[in-house]
Amino acid sequence: MEEELENLMLLSFSDLFLVQCPKCKNCASVFTLENPLGVDESIVVRGNKSKRVACKSCGFSKDMHPRKRSNHYEYEFNLFEQNPEADWYFGLPLYLQMSCCGQQLWFLNERHLIYVEAYLQKTVRPSETYYMSVESRLPKWMKSAKNRTEVLKAINKLKGEI
Ligand SMILES: [Zn+2]
Repeated sequence: MEEELENLMLLSFSDLFLVQCPKCKNCASVFTLENPLGVDESIVVRGNKSKRVACKSCGFSKDMHPRKRSNHYEYEFNLFEQNPEADWYFGLPLYLQMSCCGQQLWFLNERHLIYVEAYLQKTVRPSETYYMSVESRLPKWMKSAKNRTEVLKAINKLKGEI
């Protein structure tokens, strides 16, 4: 089980984004309409499905649908490459982010945060990571021993905001 977790991909967390509501700035969710909790069958990537951003605080809600290409549906942009600190569909700023060690620390959602925290707390780390695994996308500054305490402290602070 633990080894499987080692290489869980960032993509597997991407069915739920906690973002800043464009209307009231509180925590809103970006999720797949077919998977509103963003947790079931987390390994399945639903990048070609309709998405919704919804805010429980103010009721803001907006849907986005992928465009039809010849024989499949897809989103035509890749927001992650442009701004990793935003969700991949609406481009709204991630809710779980803060500056730390002169860099920006960010998480897609609570599960992602808990996962990275557990990874950083471990003393033994896998020597090889798959491309696109969470670990390989973790910047060096986050993994460096000298920043570890500060990063974990920041993560703990963000946890309090969930
Ligand atoms: Zn709102």
